[in-house]
Amino acid sequence: CTFCDIKFNKKEELETHCRSDLHKKRLTSDEGQDWKFRPPPRGLSSEEYSLCQRYSALFRCSFGVKCTEAHSEEELNEWKERFKFRREQLQKAREKLLHGNSFTEKLMERLMLSENPRAILVQSLDFVKLHINADLKVTMPNKRSTFAWTFTVTSKMSLHNVCLLDDVNKSYFYISSISVGPKKTQKYQNLENHYGMCKNSSPLICYLTQVVFKTDIFGTFRQSIIFDFGFETVLMREIQVESETDLDKLASDIIITEANRWTKDKVNITPFQLSSEYLSESDKNLLAKYSLPQAEKFSRPESAIMQTLNKKNYREWMHEMLYLEEMAQFSSISGFNIKTALQLVNRFLLMPGALSIAKYANNGELFAKMKLEDDLCEDSISGRLILQNAQFAYIALCKSNKEKSLPKKAYEVYIEDKGKNFIFLRLPKVCVEELKLSCDEEVTVLVQFQLNRLPKVEMHAAVDKLPSIDTVFPTLEDYKSIPWSPSRQCDSELNGCKLNAKQKEAVLAITIDPETKLPPLLIVGPFGTGKTYTLAQAAKQVLKQLDGSRILICTHSNSAGDLYIKDFFHAWFEEGNEEMKPLRIIYKNRWVQTVSETVLKYSLFDSHTSTFKYPTLEDLEKHRVIITTLNTARYISDLNISKGKWFFSHIFIDEAAQALECETLIPLSMSCESTRLVLAGDHMQLSPEVYADFCRQQYFQMSLLERLHEYYPHDHPCKIMLCENYRSHSAIVDFTSELFYENKLISSGKQKAHSKLYPLTFYAAKGEEVQHQNSTGFYNAAEVFEVVERVVDLQRKWLDEWGPMNDSSISIVTPYADQVKFIRNELRRQKLYHISVERVHNIQGKQFRVVILSTVRTQNTCRSDTSEEDLMDYGFLSNLKLLNTAITRAQSLVMVVGDPVSLCLVGKCRKVWEYFLEICNQHSSFYGMTWSTLRAQLEGVEMTKTYTLNPLAPEFIPNRLYHITKAASDSMGMNLQSQPMPSIPPWQQHLYGPSPYNHPISNFHPYPVCLTFNHFQL
Ligand SMILES: [Zn+2]
Ligand SMILES: [Zn+2]
Repeated sequence: CTFCDIKFNKKEELETHCRSDLHKKRLTSDEGQDWKFRPPPRGLSSEEYSLCQRYSALFRCSFGVKCTEAHSEEELNEWKERFKFRREQLQKAREKLLHGNSFTEKLMERLMLSENPRAILVQSLDFVKLHINADLKVTMPNKRSTFAWTFTVTSKMSLHNVCLLDDVNKSYFYISSISVGPKKTQKYQNLENHYGMCKNSSPLICYLTQVVFKTDIFGTFRQSIIFDFGFETVLMREIQVESETDLDKLASDIIITEANRWTKDKVNITPFQLSSEYLSESDKNLLAKYSLPQAEKFSRPESAIMQTLNKKNYREWMHEMLYLEEMAQFSSISGFNIKTALQLVNRFLLMPGALSIAKYANNGELFAKMKLEDDLCEDSISGRLILQNAQFAYIALCKSNKEKSLPKKAYEVYIEDKGKNFIFLRLPKVCVEELKLSCDEEVTVLVQFQLNRLPKVEMHAAVDKLPSIDTVFPTLEDYKSIPWSPSRQCDSELNGCKLNAKQKEAVLAITIDPETKLPPLLIVGPFGTGKTYTLAQAAKQVLKQLDGSRILICTHSNSAGDLYIKDFFHAWFEEGNEEMKPLRIIYKNRWVQTVSETVLKYSLFDSHTSTFKYPTLEDLEKHRVIITTLNTARYISDLNISKGKWFFSHIFIDEAAQALECETLIPLSMSCESTRLVLAGDHMQLSPEVYADFCRQQYFQMSLLERLHEYYPHDHPCKIMLCENYRSHSAIVDFTSELFYENKLISSGKQKAHSKLYPLTFYAAKGEEVQHQNSTGFYNAAEVFEVVERVVDLQRKWLDEWGPMNDSSISIVTPYADQVKFIRNELRRQKLYHISVERVHNIQGKQFRVVILSTVRTQNTCRSDTSEEDLMDYGFLSNLKLLNTAITRAQSLVMVVGDPVSLCLVGKCRKVWEYFLEICNQHSSFYGMTWSTLRAQLEGVEMTKTYTLNPLAPEFIPNRLYHITKAASDSMGMNLQSQPMPSIPPWQQHLYGPSPYNHPISNFHPYPVCLTFNHFQL
């Protein structure tokens, strides 16, 4: 071999060498050359390399050195050059018969060039009888298992070659023996010499081939065995081994049905007569002013929306994005028709305990308790949409089973209260009477939830109210030095509180003389760096130092707002600081039971109506610290306080990275030129969910904090990052610091690591994700089993110093509600309780001793081309913020369960994952696959595109597209399931440009090129 520089004495030895990983690696490698830039991403061919748009525009990109796109033209060119170099090397090898010369390689090439591979791979040949001693598809009862098939081929023709296809599963299958003749004892012979020996009348020849499967991880493993008799067509059998699963039946109990939306022109809807207590005059005015455009009438004015956000189109752009998003949300819940039983009651108790309040139905009304099932809970996208954004629902009696037919009459009902597992609906008198409902009975109804438009119109109003666009597009003076004097650091006052250097800098910046003009201060506080502490200390200093100052603190969540009082202001006020008495403004209908007694003391509560009150101007004037949420800030804004001189000298927005920019505008609309604005948060944590694809492409979900963070120059003094992390083990902090925080984060805590489990640990599973017909999410059975096994193992190894093992010390996180559901079920079946299993979205802000990630997605459903990657969300495989949010919840241990090959080959995070696995390998915490096996599978994969190889898998079509393509194929008179072949073979797709949904009607998966392995060429 002239490439590896090894001499062989026999031809057979050379051929064996040519099939080896070593040789393959040598041929596809470009090592030893003098390359200047980062290596190109894996799994992409030359024409798929692209330039990073965000880096080109901003010279910064959140993926940093792990970006899958080139950060300069030069880098892009070098990547192409490297690819060309490798391709030419492979071509040279081919010419010297050192590559592509084996039977399998030749076969793969033939399959790739063929328009109809099925014609080459056949299930039967006239002159052959094939007997197999076992089912082709078997399930394995245990994680560690082996299985063997014996293929008995009786043929009139001699067998030339036997081989296994497929690269992905190469390490799990092998041919253990081939023998000729009826007796098993007979050794294999050189079959090639038999060619042509027995064309016709010769006696039958019998061949026995044994294929062995072996694994020690959960997963689905597929292989194809090929029998070649020297003809154009070859005989093929597909074999499969799978972790035993009875998960399927769990997926079937979904009660959502595709439904016609009940609209006033189709169904007689009796509106809910709610007095002014629900909608105020100003609410009604806003709703009328910003009424939702009809979808068909709404055109996108090119002026604003086809451009990215800028200073000129700001208000117009925001309005249009909000409308588009609202329409997307509307269509998202449109298909949500719930058939459920309602329990009718005339009173209910909100929450047992000292503060519980009973609610009684009056005036002929009734309450109806509706249980929340799996599909209507915070876990699912539609569920969250409903629970967070619905205030009304329509109900109709369910009489027939024809759910698709429209009811004659429906009633609007009010969502009185929402609990963890149920909601209470208030049914109006007219509904009770006409449907002849009575207390304590149960009725089956159809429910359609109605989106609450109020939060949207509040954002619209804030967009228009914002005094100056300069607030959100500030002019950035070129500061030569920091405008706050470091000498003030000697402030004895400040030395009293335990602030680290960066925290002190933040406090100094916030408390600087209000005459100094500054753009909004950005306090970037990653997980566990004491952001709330710093802001509270800054507020304290402002109140002490600056006469007449008044601070508005807005948080995204109620709990964060409450924390300022419970942890800081309450104590400071109790110490006798009258000016630090806070006013907590709470959303009128918030459950009083969820408000602690301490916080209640500082709120405006009306005990007659048992609701919270909104402040008057006098209320505000009596306090110098006002704390509320972004949305509720609207009721301060309604008082029109911002006219003239500043009312608030300081506006702090905490959790600013979790809010849409237009949500942040609600408090900002109360600012004036001299108001000191502070935005605090972590722009690398999950941003708010946006439902409209178009809006996502336009970065509508980007928070103001994140946008300004990119907009300010790199070293701008108004960008302060708190960088000492006290929460997590240094291994976790270092990993996230390098990847997500430009190496700025340092570990200051002393978290105890496990002596046997390195803080970053990986367990391989080889599952295939499944998308249920009615679901937008996925589940992966192999990972469910592995995760549960990890929990069992943890139970044995748990450290006493870690405290008790319960749902606040260990959390399993995954991007998909379906996976959450399956893991919960399996844990329950194994009698493992008190383990938290959540979508990543539900654990923001929380911390756990151990976090187990299930990545779910694999190359089966994720496309590798970068042109699609910007638009597609593959969970942990593509979403850096999702990954960061999950990892940074952990104090001592992050365990990942996933398919390592897929993680390194698809999605924008592929380089991040390869780095993670490399770290695990260095610390011997990579389980279920060896590093060299992984490398061998990754090496050179883009040269041959083998990674998509999965002969048995039906081509994956996302649900959303499934319906479209099904309708299309139906109208073409085709049946989706039985259509055997695509018009262009999918493995040639990349030759025809990246269009992943070109071939929606194919059911059969491609056989791309494949390098040979496990190949007995005898
Ligand atoms: Zn070689
Ligand atoms: Zn980039």
